Amino acid sequence: MPSRFVFSLLLLTATTAHAQAPEISADPDRMEQRILALGRFGSNPVGGVSRVAFSDADIAGREYVQDLMREAGLTVRIDTAGNIIGRREGSDDALAPIMFGSHIDSVPGGGNYDGDVGVVGAIEVAQMLYERGIVTQHPIEVVTFTDEEGGLTGSRAMAGKLTGATLQLMSHAGVTIEDGIRRVGGDPDRLDVSRRKPGEIAAFIELHIEQGAILDEEGVDIGVVEGIVGIRWWEVTIEGVANHAGTTPMHKRRDAMVTAAEMTLAINRIATELPGRQVATVGQIEAFPGAPNVIPGKVVMSLEIRDLDSAKMQQVFDLIAAESQRIARTRGASIRFDELDLNAEPAPTDQRMRRIISASAEGLGLTFKSMPSGAGHDAQDMATIAPTGMIFVPSKDGISHSPKEFTSADDMANGASVLYRTVLAIDNGALE
Ligand SMILES: [Zn+2]
Repeated sequence: MPSRFVFSLLLLTATTAHAQAPEISADPDRMEQRILALGRFGSNPVGGVSRVAFSDADIAGREYVQDLMREAGLTVRIDTAGNIIGRREGSDDALAPIMFGSHIDSVPGGGNYDGDVGVVGAIEVAQMLYERGIVTQHPIEVVTFTDEEGGLTGSRAMAGKLTGATLQLMSHAGVTIEDGIRRVGGDPDRLDVSRRKPGEIAAFIELHIEQGAILDEEGVDIGVVEGIVGIRWWEVTIEGVANHAGTTPMHKRRDAMVTAAEMTLAINRIATELPGRQVATVGQIEAFPGAPNVIPGKVVMSLEIRDLDSAKMQQVFDLIAAESQRIARTRGASIRFDELDLNAEPAPTDQRMRRIISASAEGLGLTFKSMPSGAGHDAQDMATIAPTGMIFVPSKDGISHSPKEFTSADDMANGASVLYRTVLAIDNGALE
């Protein structure tokens, strides 16, 4: 008994400690130093960065990234969408490249880790290969996508989904996306040159911070991302009868606001009680005519539903719609749902990629867990043209898009080590 107890204890230690096989681990100090160096471009007084795409800070940060890529033995070019691509040839010209990377642009008032960890981690992997003299069969391409935070600009262009209308949108840097692409060395008139068709990339992998608190709270090293959730939006219009708030007795009211309140609670209850990880939110509401002494005759509110599975999203909506009919009847109001044309399809990652990433984490003695991504990433566009996988590392307290964003050097290195193993496994035919 005692010896078996000790043995299980040892096993437990081996799977929960931040253990790394020394010969194939990324360098935590080098990664942290580079994250801090990158954080100086666009640094703000509260400790984070405001490095919005196409700003001077973004351009300076991109220069720094290109220097790091060259140091890692990569040949650097800017594609017509402004994506930075560091490439190293493989031993077999006939093979499509294995691509990995993320973005370095931030939201205004952002942190030092969102995107940056994926770029610094991808360069770390290239440098590990370079320093060990390992020549892969596939070419490798390390990518820093253009303007992720402003609408996945670079990855959408690569997937052939960046349209003319989007190019005219104004970016946070005060230039249109079209002019911004020009500023960073791209050519918005020839975006088709940057487009990669299915088969032209052997695999795409993005390392990223979780931006949630699950890994941090549960003490798990690595998140194996099942996919990026889809999003559907509706405008919900509730109509009752506006009337005098002083003279209309309570039992004679057809109050649109009270109906909206009951709807909001029902939406929350349905999304909570249905098994699964779907989320539904009412985030916006307006009452008309909107005066303290008038019973609201009309309320317009938003409904957002997210999940990894389109059928599940539809199921949640159908339950909400059915409940709305019951509520409308009892309240003497009408409820109408108009779907907005702003929807994002769920983007599941490749099942084989999930297996390879899990095996890579396991081989390093790291704990891991499968999870969806509730936030959007460049990987969702890449998933439409290449077998795609995503590796999450913990975000301290789940904080993101904030100067308080933090991921430890060890966690970043764990992620890069998993990425390294994943790239080599794919190179050795794990996807075939
Ligand atoms: Zn990001």
